[in-house]
Amino acid sequence: MNILVLNCGSSSAKFAVIDASSGRELVSGLAQRLGSAHASLDWKLDGARHKRDLHHADHDQALRTVLDLLKGIGHVEDLAGVGHRVVHGGARFSGSIPITAEVVARIKECIPLGPLHNPPNLLGIKIAQELLPDLPQVAVFDTAFHQTMPPQTYLYAVPYEWFEKHEVRRYGFHGTSHRYVSETAVRQLGLDPDDHAIVTAHLGNGCSLCAVRNGKSMDTTMGLTPLDGVVMGTRSGSIDPSIIAHMKRALHRSADDVMDALNLRSGLLGISGLSNDMRTLQEAAAEGHQRAALAIEKFNHSVAKAAAGMIVSLGRLDALVFTGGIGENAAAVRAKIVELLGFTGLELDPVANEAHGREQGGRISVGLRPQAAVIPTNEELMIALDSAAIIAQRG
Ligand code: ADP
Repeated sequence: MNILVLNCGSSSAKFAVIDASSGRELVSGLAQRLGSAHASLDWKLDGARHKRDLHHADHDQALRTVLDLLKGIGHVEDLAGVGHRVVHGGARFSGSIPITAEVVARIKECIPLGPLHNPPNLLGIKIAQELLPDLPQVAVFDTAFHQTMPPQTYLYAVPYEWFEKHEVRRYGFHGTSHRYVSETAVRQLGLDPDDHAIVTAHLGNGCSLCAVRNGKSMDTTMGLTPLDGVVMGTRSGSIDPSIIAHMKRALHRSADDVMDALNLRSGLLGISGLSNDMRTLQEAAAEGHQRAALAIEKFNHSVAKAAAGMIVSLGRLDALVFTGGIGENAAAVRAKIVELLGFTGLELDPVANEAHGREQGGRISVGLRPQAAVIPTNEELMIALDSAAIIAQRG
């Protein structure tokens, strides 16, 4: 069953056609810089990469071009449905769901919680419904997996009315990735499907950790928004909230300006003053750039400390799983985090750690409990599998 997976961002649209029965990706691509003179479409088909200028195309024009492309290679007629990534489902969605007018209305209600992400996600749904009116469409939420968290992990200790009236609580993100890698870890590491305790660390530009107990999220580091938690590429992660009021006064700026600095100019970029990109920082640190080295050190410490917190929410640790661009590729980062967590009994296998990565995941620790592993994430596959299961169920 072939599924078109769509992930629409503010100026981009990522797509893939995936055969959900085999898990094979038939074609995938990315339209980016939409709405600008430099709009372009890149795609990968049968191992070959292609590129086309889109000249000022918006989301609608870009998705029309994608569909023409899919038609040309015979992948529109055989589509069984469309699976959409939706970032914020609030507490309204605890799983993937077929898209109806009511579901669209409920996703709209979540816009105040996900003001940057939900509008382009909704635009993608609207365009796909117009272009492919006969196909079922499914919404897969970043937040849904975390709806199993207990109150002591999802509540913030703020006035309770903020939670009741304004939906202030921890929602968590990257749920599709945490779910995919924890399910894969159970199979690949030989864990008990009914009794396991896994910390998943999704370390990309955005970073979050999740405590997965018996297939359920019990805790996660991102919060009401993706700003909370560990140090990220450009986001600060958790800080003393008083810093916001202090910097507003110090800089004579608005709260929005300070929030922009915390979202866009902090994290690895903020500390290093050089880049948000881990690879660039590793190269710079190797050449003696001290703040690049400091940024990496702060990142490693922040992730290890958060992982230790996740273990409290699990009660024990069977496996620590690394994924995302940094988790899959930065062997030195993994080595340091495992070292910092040595008190849990984790012990790195340095040869395996260097050998495993995005191309091929695998165990990177010595001994069987706890274990550490790299498992490359595949959010598109998870969206395709969810969509196919829902479509098959509805007949
Ligand atoms: P996103 O969260 O935007 O999907 P990715 O998951 O692709 O991003 O992660 C991007 C991060 O992965 C960047 O910090 C990048 O430097 C890092 N990364 C990618 N490849 C490597 C590598 N070979 N070594 C170290 N870091 C890497």
